[in-house]
Amino acid sequence: MKVLILGNGQLGQMLGQASIQLGDECLLINTRTDQVMPVGSHQALSWSVADAIDWADVISWEHEQISDEHVALAKAKLLTNPEQIKLLTHRQHEKAMFERLNLGTAPWQAFNSADELAIILSNWQGRAVIKAAEGGYDGKGQWRWQPGDNISPLLATAGQQPGIVEAMIPFHCEVSIVGARTQSGATHCYPLVENVHRDGILSHTIAGISALPFHLQGIAEQWFATLTADLGYVGTLAIEFFVVGEGDSATLLINEVAPRVHNSGHWTLTGSNCSQFSLHMRAITGAPIPPLSTQPTLMLNVIGVDAIPEHFWLRMDASPFWYGKEARLGRKVGHINITLPALSNAQPLVEQYAESLQRLSN
Ligand code: ADP
Ligand code: MG
Repeated sequence: MKVLILGNGQLGQMLGQASIQLGDECLLINTRTDQVMPVGSHQALSWSVADAIDWADVISWEHEQISDEHVALAKAKLLTNPEQIKLLTHRQHEKAMFERLNLGTAPWQAFNSADELAIILSNWQGRAVIKAAEGGYDGKGQWRWQPGDNISPLLATAGQQPGIVEAMIPFHCEVSIVGARTQSGATHCYPLVENVHRDGILSHTIAGISALPFHLQGIAEQWFATLTADLGYVGTLAIEFFVVGEGDSATLLINEVAPRVHNSGHWTLTGSNCSQFSLHMRAITGAPIPPLSTQPTLMLNVIGVDAIPEHFWLRMDASPFWYGKEARLGRKVGHINITLPALSNAQPLVEQYAESLQRLSN
């Protein structure tokens, strides 16, 4: 099939690579410049976006910030209604969706002005995270607050656009589920993986036979099915959760949903028989999907450094991925998947390498 991806960043490239393995053709749109790009090249074709859309059998995306213009052009060949996806790019609508579907989430309130934010905080009990409704990523567009803090600086920043106030959750850990929903409505999920953030940015993911209470996988898969069915979603999607409580009393709270392939699924490039990118391509083209295997894997993000040190390229247990991007503090420029003989090997590797591979801020 001929697949067109809106967006040509590293996620688009990895989707493109998966499509090649499946024998499909794939082109990418640079959604900032409207250039039509072949997979793995910076050399644009002399095609318009309309030409590419005409060429494609099916259209999908690497990021959910799709312009109204692109939606209008691509709509007939998108398998998921983009209006539904738009809800997930706005935290107020996203949280309202979780509540409508009865999916547990951190207590929250919406505000649309600095005055409304001030009123909410004057009555708020406990610590809070304030999040801009739109445009946040990697911890950007977020502010922390606790009773006693001066609210003036917050009103001058967070209060300048619509947002939400959310209770700060004393979570046990953070996990995510990545999976796909097919055109016939079947869902296929990988096991929950543990995600550790530094400065609001994903530092690493640990995938494997988890130390997490077993029942959480059932809850996560059920919520995944409920949410993707409600969206009428086709393709790979990720849900981020907070785990609260331990043992039998542990449960999940949904933090946010990424309607696309996700950084916490990068371990599947080497840790599963079917990567999240292949899973997405198979779901949107109707290709067969196998039972998903898992090899314990540590995915270490490479952030803000100029290169992946050579010794990682020479290790037998490591698969480095370099995105060909210019390094900037806090910018994800690659990742390294390390196959683990046992899950207990993950933490020592993190302690040994995370610091030197991640330049987050000055
Ligand atoms: P982003 O779009 O930047 O990923 P998130 O809402 O996922 O935004 O927040 C980034 C990180 O900040 C989370 O992964 C978590 O570590 C922390 N965080 C966000 N909201 C809360 C909360 N309500 N309680 C505790 N930690 C939070
Ligand atoms: Mg997040």
